[in-house]
Amino acid sequence: MSKESVTKLSIVVPAYNEQEVLPEFRRRVAKVLDGIDGPCEIVFVNDGSKDNTINVMHQLRELDPRISIIDLSRNFGKEIALTAGLDFARGEAVVVIDADLQDPPELIPEMIKYWKEGADVVYARRSVREGETWFKKTTAKMFYRLLKKVSRVDVPEDTGDFRLLSRRALEALKQLRERHRYMKGLFAWIGFPAKAIYYKRDPRFAGVTKWNYFKLWGLALEGFTSFTTAPLKVATYVGAFVAMAAFLFALFIIYKTIFYGDPVAGYPSLMVVVLFIGGIQLVALGVIGEYLGRMFMETKLRPLYLVKDYLPSQE
Ligand code: UDP
Ligand code: MG
Repeated sequence: MSKESVTKLSIVVPAYNEQEVLPEFRRRVAKVLDGIDGPCEIVFVNDGSKDNTINVMHQLRELDPRISIIDLSRNFGKEIALTAGLDFARGEAVVVIDADLQDPPELIPEMIKYWKEGADVVYARRSVREGETWFKKTTAKMFYRLLKKVSRVDVPEDTGDFRLLSRRALEALKQLRERHRYMKGLFAWIGFPAKAIYYKRDPRFAGVTKWNYFKLWGLALEGFTSFTTAPLKVATYVGAFVAMAAFLFALFIIYKTIFYGDPVAGYPSLMVVVLFIGGIQLVALGVIGEYLGRMFMETKLRPLYLVKDYLPSQE
């Protein structure tokens, strides 16, 4: 076989406080990579972990020369950690995978197979979600439905970040430098021939999820605001509708006063109208604020992340 200077396959792994899982993760991924011919690298991104994660990474790198480590200067959040990993990945194909073993690395060879057959994006779609509550599953479903309706981008349902990207798709993705990154949406935005494979999502191997409902709500908001301006239009339409209704109501009151008189002053109805309009105005302002805030963040053009240390793989 001819010797190739570029790494063929990169596995990008964002990790935040994953010390318990990483050794097992490395073991399972290494087993998969051993069965693949051609060079590979495992890109660990330490997203400012507060535990021993970085030391564990260094130990694993001693053990496995395929490992490279990107140590970010602080915690930037998963989406950005992932971006850092993708920026540093040198492979012809890149696989994005969570460190917690919820995504089985054993699927990688199948992804490679479809990539070789011409798919630029091979994403893993979960057929079963284990270890997740009924509430989380239902809200997730509702979110994807709604997003699909209001934005033009078709974000595949029940799909995490676990996927393979070709170099071409990766280069496209790397051009999207917005700070507010809803990765699943960005993955979908680039387009290219995609292929889904199905798998059973396992519960976490160890440690705890970094998501709570508050953060998930934030992610959902991010997904919406970065892919559609529909909420801004909602404010316009609701406002126009209310104004119209108020105008008709005023005509009705004038008519009533002229022909029947106005024996009782309508304080309660007045209160209702005032509060209703006030509420709508606040909501509309809030919606505008969400977008304005994002524009403010984007215009600062700060780098997405800062790297403290980069140790390339030794192969
Ligand atoms: N993660 C990260 N930075 C963060 C939060 C999470 O790099 O601020 C990583 C985490 O280590 C894991 C992946 O993102 O590899 C997915 O996180 P988690 O399992 O908590 O999310 P879930 O699977 O519940 O969606
Ligand atoms: Mg997880």
